[in-house]
Amino acid sequence: MASFEEHMEEMSTLSPEEIGELMGEVKAACICGDCPSYADTGETGGAFCANGKSEYITENKGCNCGDCPVTGKMGLRWGGYCMQGSARGLWDAESKGSSEEETPAEEEPAEENVDE
Ligand code: SF4
Ligand code: SF4
Repeated sequence: MASFEEHMEEMSTLSPEEIGELMGEVKAACICGDCPSYADTGETGGAFCANGKSEYITENKGCNCGDCPVTGKMGLRWGGYCMQGSARGLWDAESKGSSEEETPAEEEPAEENVDE
């Protein structure tokens, strides 16, 4: 099964029309509507793995993403996208975090003492 990274690389070669088609497939397959975190929040959207955070869902009462066909199809490895943000955003944060671990942060210059 292709990884999320491989899917992203593949997506970078798609035309806007093909991206639109793919988004339609994600929306059609999304099972967020059956999720306990989604229920009674006033949310009517979905596909948060692609669209990012919900303005309505704020309390984690469970997540159905693991059972969603999009997870396998796109190689998603996170969850709770309605509260955490899109898969792309989570991947970016993860990549940034690991590169920061590899590169030690520069030391802050010592603050000068200013006499009053
Ligand atoms: S993985 Fe989660 S957010 Fe993405 S389409 Fe499936 S249920 Fe919706
Ligand atoms: S992203 Fe996960 S937690 Fe959020 S509504 Fe969809 S299934 Fe539920």
